[in-house]
Amino acid sequence: MNTARITVAKGDGVGPEIMDATLKILEAVDAQLEIDEVQIGKEVYLQGHSSGISPEAMDTIRKNKVFLKAPITTPQGGGYKSLNVSIRKLFGLYANVRPAFSLSPYVASKHPEMDVVIIRENEEDLYAGIEHQQTDEVVQCLKLMSRPGCEKIIRYAFEYARAHKRKKVSCFTKDNIMKQTDGLFHKVFDEVKADYPEIETDHWIIDIGAARLSDTPERFDVIVTLNLYGDVLSDIAAQIAGSVGLAGSANIGEELAMFEAIHGTAPDIAGKNEANPSGLLQAAVQMLHYLGQNEAAEKITNAWLRTLEEGIHTPDVYREGVSVRKVGTREFAESIIECLGQEPTHLKAVHFPEGGKVNLRPYVRKQSAVKELLGTDVFIHWEGNDANAFGDKLSEVRTPNLSLQMVTNRGVKVWPHGIKETFCTDHWRCRFEAKEPVKPTEIIALLQACADHGFEVIKTENLYRFDGVRSYSLGQGQ
Ligand code: NAD
Repeated sequence: MNTARITVAKGDGVGPEIMDATLKILEAVDAQLEIDEVQIGKEVYLQGHSSGISPEAMDTIRKNKVFLKAPITTPQGGGYKSLNVSIRKLFGLYANVRPAFSLSPYVASKHPEMDVVIIRENEEDLYAGIEHQQTDEVVQCLKLMSRPGCEKIIRYAFEYARAHKRKKVSCFTKDNIMKQTDGLFHKVFDEVKADYPEIETDHWIIDIGAARLSDTPERFDVIVTLNLYGDVLSDIAAQIAGSVGLAGSANIGEELAMFEAIHGTAPDIAGKNEANPSGLLQAAVQMLHYLGQNEAAEKITNAWLRTLEEGIHTPDVYREGVSVRKVGTREFAESIIECLGQEPTHLKAVHFPEGGKVNLRPYVRKQSAVKELLGTDVFIHWEGNDANAFGDKLSEVRTPNLSLQMVTNRGVKVWPHGIKETFCTDHWRCRFEAKEPVKPTEIIALLQACADHGFEVIKTENLYRFDGVRSYSLGQGQ
């Protein structure tokens, strides 16, 4: 087996303690790793690097492509940027993978049968951070979803399920409301699942899906979802599994991957040899699996389960009546090393299949659709509240093909034939639509006409048909 060169950062707070424990276990299991250590976190921020990492350390991460990272402190204020967000965006780490499983009865959990992996899209959705204030009363955050983004994460979820011998992939969206964005995610899920006939699939509307996940998580196996929903769901899953402090996560990109515990620096116990190294160790196990070093990953996991089962516990999971011996970070790691080669007798032993590396083919751009421009939604800042008067006045604005079809306020149709009970803000969406496709220059002429009539246009969104299909939502009540 080839030796992998990886980058390691010990971070802040309990970081150095849990990383030392993890590295000791990796060494004892004879993982085929060569390690370059870099410094990240508080000291680096205070040296003047606003992203918490030096350019040289960034180069090392880029060169080695695999990064095992301990938690870091991001100082408050002062223009400091989150290192995690920077690394995730810079290196295109599009998939966030978080297993959440019960270790009951050794770690208390309400759901002893739970064994779920949440795969969250990591780059798109509302987290692209494109936000604007448009009027005195209205702000906006753009929810951007792309076909390559959806395809990459959904294919990753199926490949992960196949590599880890998982039986089912569930897709969570809110496409009954967001038919274009969440609708695209669901549509791509239905397309991609056809390539994996051996894997069972289902789709859940996020609200009822999340309710079911917290009530009966054993019905789920792998869940794939959009960025925001995944952020919330993965914390719920970790919490109900009973193992927030024990969970690891992987951030996977086309070229690079970063592995870390989900907890923070735990400043209250830093330097006391009390921290549980399990979260980072689980991240290291994900890393070994990613590198194709399945045997080492399996050995560590089974020894870790055996140690927990023998009641050898760090203070965070120690419970009278269940635990046998309270140990520190170092002693816990030593116990795991002593158990290497053994399997648990009560908890389920893991057996990673051979060659279970996740293989992804690069995204291939689809042939362009026939795209026809049918009009535009013009957003106007207007401070009156008589929607009928506003619509009547605006309908005087027209071009040869474009005329006002409707006005909505926060998505609700208020012209023509609005009712006076609908509450209106100062932000009006005005739909100018043509019967036949128009040229872009006609939109420009329309905007000029709006300005000439004294209307303040704050933005526009063009209305298109793609391959003959209307590709924009209707107003509520339209
Ligand atoms: P935290 O996860 O550090 O701590 C929350 C609680 O859990 C504390 O009581 C802590 O003692 C306990 N805990 C956490 N990890 C533990 C472990 N391994 N063993 C035993 N107990 C453990 O969350 P916080 O207090 O909100 O954040 C502290 C710092 O960590 C902040 O500066 C925050 O910015 C940073 N943080 C970093 C990351 C990261 O680098 N990925 C993630 C989250 C928070």
